[in-house]
Amino acid sequence: MSSATFALVNLGCRVNRVESDLIARSLEDAGLALVPQTQADVIIVNTCAVTGEAEAKTRKALRRAARMPQAPLVIATGCVANLFADDLRALAPNIVVVADKSAVASYALGRLGEACPGATPTARTTPTPTGRTRPGIKVQDGCDLRCSYCIVWKARGASRSMPIDQVVEAVRSAISDNAREVVLTGINLGRYDDGGRRLPELLETLLERTDVGRLRLSSIEPQDVDDRLIALMVSSEGRIAPYLHMCLQSGSDTVLRRMGRIYTAAEFADRVEAAYASIPHLAIETDLIVGFPGETDAEFEESRSFCERMRFTHIHTFRYSKRPGTRAAAMDGQAPPAVSASRSESIRILGERLRLAHARSLIGSEDLVVTQSVGKGISGGLFDCALDRLLPPDMLVRVRIADTGEDATLKAVVL
Ligand code: SF4
Repeated sequence: MSSATFALVNLGCRVNRVESDLIARSLEDAGLALVPQTQADVIIVNTCAVTGEAEAKTRKALRRAARMPQAPLVIATGCVANLFADDLRALAPNIVVVADKSAVASYALGRLGEACPGATPTARTTPTPTGRTRPGIKVQDGCDLRCSYCIVWKARGASRSMPIDQVVEAVRSAISDNAREVVLTGINLGRYDDGGRRLPELLETLLERTDVGRLRLSSIEPQDVDDRLIALMVSSEGRIAPYLHMCLQSGSDTVLRRMGRIYTAAEFADRVEAAYASIPHLAIETDLIVGFPGETDAEFEESRSFCERMRFTHIHTFRYSKRPGTRAAAMDGQAPPAVSASRSESIRILGERLRLAHARSLIGSEDLVVTQSVGKGISGGLFDCALDRLLPPDMLVRVRIADTGEDATLKAVVL
């Protein structure tokens, strides 16, 4: 008798990660064992289309999976699978496309049942994914905006949200699986809308109706950081992490216009300043694209100095790469690779300096830390934290920040 096995390759954003975890959990609940790709009967590749580069990685991952010596069944799902199913199928005969992620687990089980009817369920070999200390819950999917460089809205469709009651249940279930922090994710999280109940109402409900230790918002568009959300973060006294990931993309108004973003740098700054003024020790991360078509040295410099003014604690920098099927792909003046590389490096250096400055500003303050391994954890602002006690994983503890390393790791005393 054989045991049915699977492997999962996740590419792309946090939403994909959450969806991959759900697929893995369904398969494990059905008795399949999660194994390395070299041993898997079925390999699921959750694809990403966010840039041309991401799509190239997707194809590479699929080819690699299809070439494994045991000739596994390879299931492609996710954004590239939605957009270019035929291209992916043509990569190798053992690749199939299941565009609907919620159907992937049942499809895999059906095909495995046909292929090896004698397969027996095996004992679970890994902890259930939602048993992670900081699980993500996807509360929103899709996007109604049309940024000129983006194809994700085409792949994922219009914005839609999980009803509040279902989110409450999902958070309660995560807590019973030992979660100390729950990360609310979405493609455009700020557009959460359950029959007129928006993100602040969702957060209020979760704070009232669950015992969640800490909630964290994943990336959010600047226009959705409104006064109500800020007030709620303040009144939650740390139960909503003092952390925002606000997508900037460029700090130059002319580039923002070409990108089809719906705010100006001044409007972005207004939201950032309002949040800093109210939320103590707030950490703000951002995403930035460098080398966007037509980005001049002056526009890049505007963007760089804007990032400095915003005091971001982390800047996720992406070098623009042409994404066929988008408006930006037809725009002239894409920066040469060497220019994009040097702009990206300059932002990296700035980002490290800003991160360290923020870490130092925390010395003497109190924070909540979720322990993830013995004596180590994650702070409210998403900084790595070394504790003065060898506490086990899966705790939420109050600490005082005593010092910081050169790599911005916080050194904390447990209170
Ligand atoms: S906000 Fe813009 S970049 Fe983000 S998913 Fe929507 S269209 Fe894409």
